Amino acid sequence: MLTFLGRGSAFTDEHNSAFFVENDELVLIDCAMSSFEKLNDMNMTLYKHIYVLITHTHGDHVSGLGMLIDLMEFSVKTPITIVAPSKEVENDIRYLLRNIEGCADSWYGLTNASEFKKDWFDCAIPTFHTEQLEGKCFGYHLTVGGNKVVYTGDTNTLEPFEKYFEEGTYAYMEISAYRSPVHLYCIDMHDKIAELTAKGVHVYLMHMDDEKRIESVLADTGAQLAPLIGGDLSLNDIAKTLDGIFEIMDGLYKDTCMNRIKDHTKLFKYITELGKTIVDADRASFWKWDKRRNQLWTMSSTDLDKIVIPDSTGLVGKALRNKHIVVTNDPYSDPDFNKDVDLRSGYTTKSVLVLPVANINGEFIGALQLINKHSADGFDEVEDAKKLSLAALVCGIALESETFLEDSHHDRLTGLRNRMGFYYDFAKKYKEYLLPGSGKKMALFICDIDKFKRVNDTYGHNAGDDVLKFTSHLIESFCNEDDGVYRWGGEEFVMIMRDADLEAAAKKAEEIRVKLMGSEINADGNKINCTMSFGCAVFDPFKTIEENVSAADEKLYTAKETGRNKVCT
Ligand code: GH3
Ligand code: MG
Ligand code: MG
Repeated sequence: MLTFLGRGSAFTDEHNSAFFVENDELVLIDCAMSSFEKLNDMNMTLYKHIYVLITHTHGDHVSGLGMLIDLMEFSVKTPITIVAPSKEVENDIRYLLRNIEGCADSWYGLTNASEFKKDWFDCAIPTFHTEQLEGKCFGYHLTVGGNKVVYTGDTNTLEPFEKYFEEGTYAYMEISAYRSPVHLYCIDMHDKIAELTAKGVHVYLMHMDDEKRIESVLADTGAQLAPLIGGDLSLNDIAKTLDGIFEIMDGLYKDTCMNRIKDHTKLFKYITELGKTIVDADRASFWKWDKRRNQLWTMSSTDLDKIVIPDSTGLVGKALRNKHIVVTNDPYSDPDFNKDVDLRSGYTTKSVLVLPVANINGEFIGALQLINKHSADGFDEVEDAKKLSLAALVCGIALESETFLEDSHHDRLTGLRNRMGFYYDFAKKYKEYLLPGSGKKMALFICDIDKFKRVNDTYGHNAGDDVLKFTSHLIESFCNEDDGVYRWGGEEFVMIMRDADLEAAAKKAEEIRVKLMGSEINADGNKINCTMSFGCAVFDPFKTIEENVSAADEKLYTAKETGRNKVCT
């Protein structure tokens, strides 16, 4: 029916004014300056003709009229006709446009309701407002899309409209939160509105000076707030959303720059939370595409533990495969939707939006996923994707930097963490563990393949590489969750063991030594046997890492000096 450019009164920042379109002609009811600003954002060239029905000449109803005529005259060039509700108002409007707005008579058509003929126009209805507007304030009776429409304008009584309220009529009714001689007071109108809606009249409220109060007073009457152009997001809602966004950004900034969060986990948490807040969704998760393992896994998710899935599956897999945003507001009918999480958790997914995320080279590396938008309509592919674009971009950059960091901590050949990874882990995990007075102990061993140079010299570098891979995997297979294995250098490895003493370190080293000695390694087609020498030490919390590793290295030296293939403590 009618769409509102604003539904407030003079005492709010948007004045009430509505429009409808019939046969490519745009019909406006009143045009305040706040309405003109909205119209200016619309594509006005789409319409063949513009009609403006005036209810009365208060500034909050006609202050945008002169600007609209100017816009048509100088830019849009669509003919515009002003329809005054009476001859008297027609004269007032002419005076206003000529003398105050400075519009030439030729820029617009001006007529009045008694002379105006259109299929959608029935009549102007005189109302009661201020004394000064006696005989100059009107509502309208219209036929829009085959439906009867009553627009009350400003009035302090519904009496003139009574005869038009039939079953199926759309009644757009002014209402005020406060009692005054010139408006319909919400408390007084409560029973009347309930009676009208019970009769089948569709009642919509406008000209509201305090929406929240009016909404609560009339909540049980069946009346609705007049529908706004661009949806029903109140300024209050927008302010709340912005506040939520700024709070997250503030936390992100402080944690990143002031508290120096030491890994990306928290960063991803902030960004997923940001995405959730921006589009008002119930859940959000951020996924990394691990192309080496052909897996997708969550870097961060609200309300869910880490999930790992094959990279060809689910809606995230679909978005990455197709390099395209996925939106569904009926996920259960999408064959790519993975119902498992719902089945396991009892949660019901109703709408999903997945934004694939690329690195700086444009390669897709992950995805931002939002679940269950709170609005009943679900996600909008264009609008929600637009709102999420910055969060998705930041996720891409953060993921790329996380991947660089991870890569720099890993050795390509063996897949083990390298010396950089060792120092990083030490600062993050082990240092605190070792704090003097913590009562915890930690041991380590360093090991080195014996006469490895000979392998290279005899069988070639590729064979040497195979031996390194075999050995590293063997050591790793002895590594518990609390331990860490690192490729220290060429053919040297370090194992850190938490909660272990010298004896435990030596025992594990011996097991590995024996296992390696008894293994036949397939190295580039050759069957090779290798041995390793080990040096063990317990961590001294009063020494630096270098000093601690040196202590083990000295024992390794002893092992090499005294015949190799042995463990020294
Ligand atoms: P020792 O028993 O005294 O440790 O003798 P070694 O031959 O093992 O020791 P040395 O330090 O003389 O030689 C180590 C060799 O390891 C030299 C180097 O070319 C080789 N190496 C280091 N990194 C790699 C690698 O990534 N791949 C291969 N194939 N060889 C490597
Ligand atoms: Mg060696
Ligand atoms: Mg060496």
